[in-house]
Amino acid sequence: MSHIRFPEESGIQLVEDVPDGGIFLGSVEKVFNWVVNWGRKASMWPLTFGLACCAIEMMATGAARYDLDRFGIIFRATPRQSDLMIVAGTVTHKMASRTKTLYEQMAEPRYVVAMGACACSGGPFVDAYSVLNGVDRIIPVDVYIPGCPPRPETLLHGLMELQKKIMQERVTIDRPSTPFAQALNRLGGRDASRVAREA
Ligand code: SF4
Repeated sequence: MSHIRFPEESGIQLVEDVPDGGIFLGSVEKVFNWVVNWGRKASMWPLTFGLACCAIEMMATGAARYDLDRFGIIFRATPRQSDLMIVAGTVTHKMASRTKTLYEQMAEPRYVVAMGACACSGGPFVDAYSVLNGVDRIIPVDVYIPGCPPRPETLLHGLMELQKKIMQERVTIDRPSTPFAQALNRLGGRDASRVAREA
């Protein structure tokens, strides 16, 4: 008798000593969320996009020594095939509108990591007339990584935190704007405005 084993934190349990196979304890929704979230967290594709010195650390993280590929994280050269934006560097007012446009061109569900003091809050340029004091003023940020610059290990830690966050999501409620969630909500007769309120 073979079973698919789910990690403890998924909340999905199997009764193993039932003769005809396992029985799921926990809702179908939990299993569904776990499977979809697992797929999403194990294939995050960041946009190839760097703004300043932090981007050098990001490139090092993607290279052979730190090897982001082993997490399924592979850089893409177009926002339309990316679901993760690592904002690595100083966001100037001049670049802010371009950054927002790139974010809006990315596929849903999309995630943002603010890498380094500049992206989190303006960093050493916080008083400069030309610098935005944090990228969260124009786009929503999921994970903030402090440091000037953060080392590759720190970026890896931030990305693993994002993976944990993704695993906690309820697919149809927390990300209702994905076509997938919209189709499921329509199928289940759920009211879109109610879903947005619950999110
Ligand atoms: S946080 Fe430091 S290293 Fe990163 S972009 Fe700003 S000044 Fe450069």
